[in-house]
Amino acid sequence: MANQSRILVIEDEERIANFLRRGLAYEGYQVDVAHDGQAGLALARDYPPDLVVLDWMLPGIDGIEVCRRLRSGGSVPIIILTARDSLSDKVQGLDAGADDYLVKPFDFEELLARIRALLRRVQPSKIEVLKFADLTLDTGTRQAFRSGRAIDLTAKEYELLELFMRNPRQVLTRDVIFDRVWNYDFGGESNIIEVYVRYLRQKTEAESEQRLVHTVRGVGYVLRED
Ligand code: CA
Repeated sequence: MANQSRILVIEDEERIANFLRRGLAYEGYQVDVAHDGQAGLALARDYPPDLVVLDWMLPGIDGIEVCRRLRSGGSVPIIILTARDSLSDKVQGLDAGADDYLVKPFDFEELLARIRALLRRVQPSKIEVLKFADLTLDTGTRQAFRSGRAIDLTAKEYELLELFMRNPRQVLTRDVIFDRVWNYDFGGESNIIEVYVRYLRQKTEAESEQRLVHTVRGVGYVLRED
């Protein structure tokens, strides 16, 4: 059976990137490729991957920083690729939140084995159904339901709602929300949180249901029942 896991490859060397794209696609994975860290983070945001293969030496934002930002946004497994075989790189990489480490030139079968191992490890925690009041969120399908009514969410709306549902009745400050959902990409002056909270309210209150996402003036937002 085809393997539908989505793998994001962030690698600036075209030859290796193409080799990985072809090889992983042949194995049945859905593959996205980015050639620098910025593009990789954008792809990870728009098309959340099940696993990331990340080159260490990248132009612009380097691998370690990409790794930190991916990690602050969630628990996606990350395998770092590096040409440098030094212990300090490995320690730095693991400190930054990488799950595994492979030295170039690497054996493709070895990479596949590690990918399979990591995907197996995260699979059980992948599907969870979060509940709050009459709202449920399926982390497998990334779909929300309100009193059984299905609500389709965009990637960002999903992440924001998941953050609220994992922290019910807790006031989440704007800084925390920025950090966890946008990785500070938009900066504190942006009204992006207000915009997305409005989208979530429109969708979760489409049938005049009671409000669950409340504004805490000057601080942030909280998921609670009145
Ligand atoms: Ca590189």
